[in-house]
Order: sequence, then C-alpha cells, then structure tokens
Amino acid sequence: MTTTVKEILDAMQEYTPEDEAMIRKAYDFAQKAHENVKRYSGEPYFIHPAAVSKHLAQLGMDGATVTAGLLHDLIEDSDIREDEITKEFGPEVCFLVEGVTKLGKHKYRGAERHAESLRRLFVATSADVRVLIIKLADRYHNMTTIEHVPEHKRARIALETLEIYAPLADRLGMGRIKKELEDLSFPAIDPDAYAHALEVRKLKSKETETGLARAQKEIQKALVRKNIKDFRTEIRMKGLWSLHQKLKRKNDDITQIHDIAALRIIVPNIDDCYVALGVIHAMWKPLPGEFKDYVAFPKPNGYRSLHTTVLTAEAGVVEVQIRTKDMHQKAQYGIASHMSYKQLGKSANKGAFEKLSFPWIRDLVPALLHMPKKAPDTQNTELPSGSVQKNTKDRSAPSWLAELAEAHGVDEESEEFVDGLKRDFFSHRIFLFTPRGDVIDMPTQSTPIDFAYAIHTYLGDHMAGAKVNNKLVSFDTQLRNGDIVEILDKVSAKPTPKWLDYARTSMARRHIRSAIEEQEKKADANIEPKSKAEQKARKKKIKK
Ligand code: MN
Repeated sequence: MTTTVKEILDAMQEYTPEDEAMIRKAYDFAQKAHENVKRYSGEPYFIHPAAVSKHLAQLGMDGATVTAGLLHDLIEDSDIREDEITKEFGPEVCFLVEGVTKLGKHKYRGAERHAESLRRLFVATSADVRVLIIKLADRYHNMTTIEHVPEHKRARIALETLEIYAPLADRLGMGRIKKELEDLSFPAIDPDAYAHALEVRKLKSKETETGLARAQKEIQKALVRKNIKDFRTEIRMKGLWSLHQKLKRKNDDITQIHDIAALRIIVPNIDDCYVALGVIHAMWKPLPGEFKDYVAFPKPNGYRSLHTTVLTAEAGVVEVQIRTKDMHQKAQYGIASHMSYKQLGKSANKGAFEKLSFPWIRDLVPALLHMPKKAPDTQNTELPSGSVQKNTKDRSAPSWLAELAEAHGVDEESEEFVDGLKRDFFSHRIFLFTPRGDVIDMPTQSTPIDFAYAIHTYLGDHMAGAKVNNKLVSFDTQLRNGDIVEILDKVSAKPTPKWLDYARTSMARRHIRSAIEEQEKKADANIEPKSKAEQKARKKKIKK
C-alpha cells in the first residue's frame, strides 16, 4: 500500500503550514512524475519515495528533508530536471535532492568503483548531513524489498549496505537503522550463516524466554520498592549479523554468548541508572569484569548505557542494560535526534541546517567538489569573517584522506581509501554543536580549547570559559559526541602553557604556542633584557 500524505504529516514531530503545503505539493508532484513506472515487485514506483519520506518524518527530520525524501529519485528516474525542482520547491530542497542523486550515481563494481562512490558519499556528506540521512532511509527501504531484486544484483547491494551504509549509520549513532541494515543484508551475503544464526537465536531465546520474563518481573518489583517511578523494561534481541560476528569470535561456542537476549531498563534520569544498577547487583551476582559504564565513558559514537552481566536464578546468565529515556532515544536515532525540531528549537532551526557540515573533508577533496563553498558561521558575529574558513580546516584529519586529494585513480589507492575509511573515520571523530546548531566534527578526546580554535583563532586566544550543554566546565573536559559547546570569551583572557596539556589538535597547540611566544615578546620588550639562558629555558618549556 502506498503511504498517504496524511501518514507522512502525522509522523512528523511538528510542521508549519508552509511545510505542509510544500509536502502535499511534493507528494502530488512525485506521484505524477513516477506514474507508469514500476518497482521490481510490480508495485507503483511511488510507494518507494513515499515510504522513505515517512521514515524521515519518523526520525524527526525537518520539512525540507521530508520533502526531499519524496523527490529524491526524480532527477535519476524521471524527466524532471534540477531547475524545475528549484523553481517549485526552492534551492534548499533541490540541494538535498541533488546530493542524494550524486550519492547514487556510481554503483559498486569492484574496489575502484567502490571507492569512487565512497568519495561522492563523503563530498555530499561534507555539504550537509541531511543528504546522508536521506540516503540511509532510501537504502533501508530498498533493503526491505531486496527479495524482488534480480539475484545477480542482490549480493552487490547487500555488500555495499553492510560495508558502507551500516558503518555510516553506526558512526552517526543511528543504532536502530544500523542493526536493520545489517540484518536485511545478511541473508544475501551468506545464506548458510544467516540460517545458522537464526537457529541459534531461536534456540537460545526459547530456552530463556520464561526465565527472562520472571527475571523482568523481579526487577520491576525491586525498582518499585526503591521508589523509582516512570521506568520501563524490555527484552531486546541481539541482531543476527552481530550474533554471527560474535559466534565467529567465540569459535561457534554458544555457551560463551550471554547477550542474545538482554534485559533493558529505561529510567528517567542518570541517578536512577546507578540506583537500578545497585538493585540488580544486590539481587543477583554480577560476573566479574563484565560491568561497563558507558554513561561516564560513552563510546566514540555517543552511545551511553550501563551494561552488566549477572547470574540470575530465573534465567541463568543475563546481560542487563540500563539507560535514561534520552540515552535510549539517542542510541536509536543518533545524529537524527540532534537535528529534530524539538532539539534545535524553532528559532535556531531556521538556517541552522545549512551548516551541518564537515569542512575538513570539503577542503581536502577540492577536485570532487561541485557545490558552492559557504563560509561556516561563527558563534560571535563581531569576529572578522575573512579568516574563519581557514581555521575550520582541521589539520588533524587523517593523512590518508589528505593524500586522496592528490591521488588519481590508482587501484591500490582505492583499496587504501576503503580500509582507511573503515579504520579512521568511523572510530576517531565526534560531532559537536555550536549553540546555534552548527556541526563541528573533531577528533575524539578534544577539549573546549580545541573547539574554540576550530571555530576561530580569536575565540581560542581569548577563551575565558566554556559551557557544555549549558553547564560551565573546566578547560580539560573531554567533549562527547553530540555535546553543545559554547565558548565564553574575554578580551583580557590569554592562553597559558597549561593549555598545551589540554589541547588535543595540532592546530590548537600551534596557536597556543604562538600566542604564548607573542606574550613573551611583549613582556621582554617591557622588562629589562633577560639572560640568554633564561630565555632558552623558557622557550624549552613552551615547546614541551
Ligand atoms: Mn530511492
């Protein structure tokens, strides 16, 4: 059944009358343009963009993205042209549709073509994260109907989904779509292993089903006694692809796997997480070495939860995951949950989406760039705007990516690109937000000092304080994925040598060093000349 426009609108968190008019218009427009075209399943083509659009609405995306979801295949699969989309729906929607079209241009045909499509993926990503989210929703819907795709194409699409799209979803913290993409790809890649994993999961869950239900009841009673209100519990099943990976690691020893079914406890706030943990550990003995505090130490993609594994009387060894509602929301929707109307707020929303970008990628891949460069906004409008662009180029970008700009179509280079991509990009970067919703992406373990310098040298050189998620923090605070960071500046504030210990990026360190040297020079000019040895000793200290 084709998704109705009402279903799309109902799925949105909120929308303006303008959004509604635009979405209704796009719905009719796309339906007409795709008329007489059929999917492999024999259904009208339009069911696909309509489903993608609804999915984007469910993710909490804005009106332009939901509209672009409806129009995303028009340039590729109908005779509608870019200028017509711009004329009817404006440049923002057209920009998104063009971005999605570019991502889809190159199909996976061996390593070199593969790398090519990856590059396009990143160029588009660097321009706007929404393009990538549309593409993920697009790929997800195509994967749900992959059984209709001719067999010889299936494996290629599944492999691309598994190697490129699922890791991307993971990197963006979008846990739910990641798991679904993996499990939809799995049967096309290794049908036997899929059947085996399915069998193992069935067997294990049957074994523990009643026990888990009883354990769940016990937890509920105990939490109520501890006066925790407004919590819920659920049983989550491990994804089949992820189970397959674990089976391989454990040499197919099923008895070694305790997290096929896990109990999940979702509580109102962080204090409750630790209270719930205490309740669990008082009730059942935890397995030593299995407790992980991802609340205090989130994973690089922003995932937060308490994980513990306990020996229950009811169901044997059970993994328990404890998190707040907010953590649960973010674990499922990741970056999309930062970009929803509710998160950004109505006033900040306007224009903020334009700047969801990764400038360091954009700067490093100039040859592939077809989109106009926009100067990233700064937090402080009084800053001189000329040098902003330069500073946002993060020089700590992995070197393999820097080399990419110069390399030309060598096979080895392509493979290197794919490997490097998997290794570096996905695991070592975090996404941070300015108070206005601009995205700055930085290496993990970055501090407010790095953030300040990434925005502007002036802001770094005059940083007087920093707020993370509206709370004042110290300069050495390690920033976490999704943090909203505000830098407070004062004309009289200056970098100190201590800052060098706190800064993670080479760019920040370089600026700090030169600012300190500048201070020294001024001081030297004012006070009587020092002995050479003294000056040398001081320089040495700075260089450390
Ligand atoms: Mn599509």
